[in-house]
Amino acid sequence: MELRIRNLSKTYANGVVALDRVTLTIPAGMFGLLGPNGAGKSTLMRILATLQECDSGSVFLDDIDVLDEKDEVRRMLGYLPQDFGVYPKVTAYELLDHFAQLKGVSNKARRREVVDGLLQQTNLWEVREQRLGTFSGGMRQRFGIAQALLGDPRLIIVDEPTAGLDPQERVRFHNLLSDIGEDRTVLLSTHIVSDVADLCANMAIINKGQVLLCGEPQDLIYGIEDYIWARVVTKQELPEFQKRYAVISTRLLSGRTLIHVYSEDDPGEGFEPARASLEDVYFATIAGRYNPAAGTC
Ligand code: ADP
Repeated sequence: MELRIRNLSKTYANGVVALDRVTLTIPAGMFGLLGPNGAGKSTLMRILATLQECDSGSVFLDDIDVLDEKDEVRRMLGYLPQDFGVYPKVTAYELLDHFAQLKGVSNKARRREVVDGLLQQTNLWEVREQRLGTFSGGMRQRFGIAQALLGDPRLIIVDEPTAGLDPQERVRFHNLLSDIGEDRTVLLSTHIVSDVADLCANMAIINKGQVLLCGEPQDLIYGIEDYIWARVVTKQELPEFQKRYAVISTRLLSGRTLIHVYSEDDPGEGFEPARASLEDVYFATIAGRYNPAAGTC
């Protein structure tokens, strides 16, 4: 299964250009769409999920025209929106059973089988009789995945699913996504670099409605590997370094500041070559420092 997005654009009524000729090819497996808040990720996800109209462009899921054949797409799609709300007073079992009915699983025995299976798969079986209002953020997101998996969709879209999860819940959620990504296409939008680094075979970076970079995370890291330099500076020195170098990230380290700069030559001045990471790729790209010849996304 392949999702092909071509020149997709969307401008909101207030003049904000949310998507600017987005072109991306998303193969089977896990695909990470990485970008800061406001980059246009949710707009793209909603258009792909057939919940919002675009202004121009095309989207094909194999030979299905996503912008036109919406019912067809909905049959193949599972979607976990960013603001997934649940009814706090009903139990996980009741709500999933209700969603299954809405999805057309009318046979009671079959529904029970489906709902039981999904609650087990998402590790919610033990808490199935608890009200959703008592669920932690991580449990709620796993419930969101359970409902997205109803109908056994081939394409799953998850919008910022790990925002607000604690580290343990994030690991658990990653494991779940990685399981479901084994035999499906999963499109994961996130502003958290480690979501993509941990999970995705392919990725793209989006900012201000434009795709800046795409490829396999490891290749993108290779592409930048000789250009990242690190140094510890004091707080007082930082502004001067920011003026003179392409500082792509700053991080506190035992009360001092570790900076990474992008430079094609050795900057000297106490900088050491740093081992490049996906975070460096991301920050250098967003800062406009890293812009390899536009690949075929
Ligand atoms: P992301 O999901 O990456 O945070 P969004 O797609 O939510 O990005 O938003 C992209 C841009 O479009 C932002 O500048 C946002 O403020 C704007 N935007 C989103 N929804 C609307 C809307 N309904 N009306 C006007 N502007 C919007």
